Amino acid sequence: MNKKEKLEMLFREFPGVGPRQAGRFVHALLYKNRNYLEELSRLILEIKEGTRKCQRCNRFFQENNQNHICSICGDERRDRTKLLIIEKNPDFENIENSGIWNGLYFLIGKNLKLTEKEPEKKINLESLKKQLENNPVEEVTFALSLTPEGEQTKDFLWNFLNPLAKELNFKITELGRGLSLGSEIEYSDKVTLTEAFKNRK
Ligand SMILES: [Zn+2]
Repeated sequence: MNKKEKLEMLFREFPGVGPRQAGRFVHALLYKNRNYLEELSRLILEIKEGTRKCQRCNRFFQENNQNHICSICGDERRDRTKLLIIEKNPDFENIENSGIWNGLYFLIGKNLKLTEKEPEKKINLESLKKQLENNPVEEVTFALSLTPEGEQTKDFLWNFLNPLAKELNFKITELGRGLSLGSEIEYSDKVTLTEAFKNRK
């Protein structure tokens, strides 16, 4: 495999990037000057410095302190009786920017692939269980995208949480009317999200 092909393989690991797009990225880089390429390489190398993963919600955050938990999880004004299960950071940003959620979050990182054979290994179930045991809530709400992967992930987690819900006495809900089939949380607008949150069931 030559360098160009290797780089294409690396780009293909990005969300939503297929072989043709990866090829276009590599092609575009060939037209960039040295300064651009140096800055890009440097920023890629530094992206993880100063970025930490919250030990409570799994969110990546950059803050100027040494806390192990992010400012949302540490904020006493948030409603600690409610936990929202979402997929990833961009979903968090979209929901948070729309100002419709005042509870806490739990990020699973990535929805399960439809071909996933060992789902229990792909989602940190122990961490989720521990959060719920250590920080009891009254309601756990699923806000996963209405895609086949999102639905499958929701069903899997719902089954996992059901016995725990009885034991720890919380209810499980999901976003309701508002979101249409195929809707991705990351790209949903505020009106749609507000409606879906209000109608959670
Ligand atoms: Zn957090």
